[in-house]
Amino acid sequence: MAVKLDGKALSRKMESELLIRSQAIIDKTGVKPVLATVLVGDDPSSAIYVNMKGRACKRVGIKSRKVLLPNDSTTENVLDKIDELNNDDSVFGILLQHPVPKQIDERACFDKIALSKDVDGVTSLGFGKMTMGEEVFSCATPGGIMKMLEHYDIPLEGKDAVVVGRSPILGKPMAMMLLNKNATVTICHSRTKNLSDIISRADIIVGAVGIKEFIKGDWIKNGAVLIDAGYHQGGFGDIEIDKAIDKCSAYTPVPGGVGPMTIATLISQTIKSAEMKLL
Ligand code: NAP
Repeated sequence: MAVKLDGKALSRKMESELLIRSQAIIDKTGVKPVLATVLVGDDPSSAIYVNMKGRACKRVGIKSRKVLLPNDSTTENVLDKIDELNNDDSVFGILLQHPVPKQIDERACFDKIALSKDVDGVTSLGFGKMTMGEEVFSCATPGGIMKMLEHYDIPLEGKDAVVVGRSPILGKPMAMMLLNKNATVTICHSRTKNLSDIISRADIIVGAVGIKEFIKGDWIKNGAVLIDAGYHQGGFGDIEIDKAIDKCSAYTPVPGGVGPMTIATLISQTIKSAEMKLL
């Protein structure tokens, strides 16, 4: 029977430990750490994600400061706001909610975030350092996935891992993190040929495509581990998990798998940032 990689349960366990750590910071320093969340525009899904992150901050005893910028903001406006937050000593982490409106240079805005406050792991510098095996805050979604794989003792060394998707905040850092753990990694994308063949040989499959049930159940080999980062209306992911559940060895449910681990990783790194500066 396949093991359910229960991100919801694991994230709740992490949160109870984080509450103790945040309380220790407050007791010792009188400072309640702040995560600043920057939301540009009025995309309803982004607003939901920012609110979920705000609620998670509350659960672990830290503050979230919501910064809302209008839909017609320029790159300069966002850069100025990030600069202000970089220079604000009460802020220990900065999250710029992805995606930003099209007229904004998202990469420039991500890269403006000070490395020491990049608790969502989105800067190019952070990506480079992580790739080189240095200690930095990890990109939150792949970092959360790695924590889950570690918690459930999923072996990675020498395994064939296939990451479908190569976005800068998910597919690419995911591939590098698996590589750093000695998996043999293949990265697939929209120009990949023979995707089903590649997937049929994989021990570990990460769906990071953004297309509902794109990875078909009958492509998956017996015993594979399925990690589904996608979320689509109605509780569907990027992998046809229902059709593979009898042959995979482990899988992340949708919802309740990768999503809660992303938030827990972001919050955990905010508290770590505060500990590094204050304790
Ligand atoms: P993205 O920026 O849109 O990237 C999608 C990737 O999928 C791209 O690299 C693209 O390839 C690839 N792709 C598209 N069509 C393909 C095809 N036909 N065959 C193979 N590859 C194809 O998306 P993202 O931000 O990485 O997000 C991916 C999914 O993860 C989405 O469902 C998103 O909602 C989810 N997500 C979840 C969390 C969480 O916390 N749970 C966080 C972030 C994202 P090209 O590079 O060639 O275009």
